[in-house]
Amino acid sequence: MDESLTFASLGLTPSLLQAVAETGYTQPTAIQAKAIPKVLAGRDLLGAAQTGTGKTAAFTLPILQRLMAEPRPTGRPGRPRCLILAPTRELSAQIHESVLTYGKHLPLRSVVVFGGVNINPQFAAFRKPLDIVVATPGRLLDHAGQRTVDLSGVEILVLDEADRMLDMGFIRDIKRLLVLLPKARQSLLFSATFSGPIRALAREFLRDPESVDVAPRNTTVQRIEQSVYMTEQPVKRALLAHLIKDNGWGQCLVFTRTKHGANRLAEYLDNHGISAAAIHGNKSQAARTRALAHFKSGEVSTLVATDIAARGLDIEELPQVVNFELPNVPEDYVHRIGRTGRAGSSGQAVSLVDAGEAKLLSDIERVIKQRIPRSTPERFTPPARAEIEAPRPPRPMSRARGGYAQGRGAGGRSPNARSR
Ligand code: AMP
Repeated sequence: MDESLTFASLGLTPSLLQAVAETGYTQPTAIQAKAIPKVLAGRDLLGAAQTGTGKTAAFTLPILQRLMAEPRPTGRPGRPRCLILAPTRELSAQIHESVLTYGKHLPLRSVVVFGGVNINPQFAAFRKPLDIVVATPGRLLDHAGQRTVDLSGVEILVLDEADRMLDMGFIRDIKRLLVLLPKARQSLLFSATFSGPIRALAREFLRDPESVDVAPRNTTVQRIEQSVYMTEQPVKRALLAHLIKDNGWGQCLVFTRTKHGANRLAEYLDNHGISAAAIHGNKSQAARTRALAHFKSGEVSTLVATDIAARGLDIEELPQVVNFELPNVPEDYVHRIGRTGRAGSSGQAVSLVDAGEAKLLSDIERVIKQRIPRSTPERFTPPARAEIEAPRPPRPMSRARGGYAQGRGAGGRSPNARSR
């Protein structure tokens, strides 16, 4: 990328440039450089980019600027001018954080809504004037059904992580919402992958879109040092504990295939002297946010997550990712390990693979077009069969430290929890 490229050269106004400078960014990322001028020009956009590329700022900054264009209609109660849809509550919350960060010098009002929590504070938020709504599709549809939100004034629509929204079965909710929006609007669609259904969605909802494509996924993969340990399923957790201790991994994101597996593994690690927490869809929003905060602050060194829960988590420069089990879909492997190679830094990705996962491993190697080197653990003695067969009895996870309060902007209290 052009080293001399600045945010100012992309056409952003002084209050946005100030907010960007205050976050410490010195140069736009590739997707920001490509997308910002196009969105400012009012074009529809089809963006191929995954989390970690800076895509949130790539759409948030120009949208904020467009919403400030004169003459500016006043934001009306429950009638937003911009709608941003995202698949999970975490991602919605993070996008809303970005809206607040980049828009802090602007008089725009925003709210985030997602499912699983008391809907009443959300009603209250929608009774105030607002410009921007960030939402998961299910809960927003509930509001639309109850007429607490009026989508007929939406000028700009964003579908973020569209592929994941489809994977999570949101397509019908999205389509029901989109018929409530005016036809004349600007629409942006971001997705890491472009399957047939995503292309169909794009054809249906974008008008003559500009395409931006950044970081062909393999370049991310190539920056990451990958290795595979061939092992047996019952030995994996002891091997993982050994690797964490032996290598002194201070901040490590571990992926498991199931929520139950995430809980059990976090508990095992915690019982073996490694501070760990699990993050997945069955946990309350407060528990997830707390686990993430403890992980970011270093209080918890190991975060055990399922793919869906981890998707969109804003964790910067993660040095270490572990696949406790390989994902069923090779693309998820790329997503998972991509968490280490963020913002130009390199990372390490380790996979623990048993014989039953050999086929998944070869599928992954075919997709990433490289063979992942096999490693053998040093100084590791597999536990005796007795310990494998008689794991310690489960102990309740004790991470209930302090309360959780969040929420700024028009929402007052931030609604949280389960996204539908
Ligand atoms: P995203 O892809 O939107 O999830 O962003 C990934 C991470 O990159 C976030 O932690 C952002 O704060 C960070 N980021 C976004 N834009 C820039 C930039 N221009 N320079 C450095 N970091 C950035």
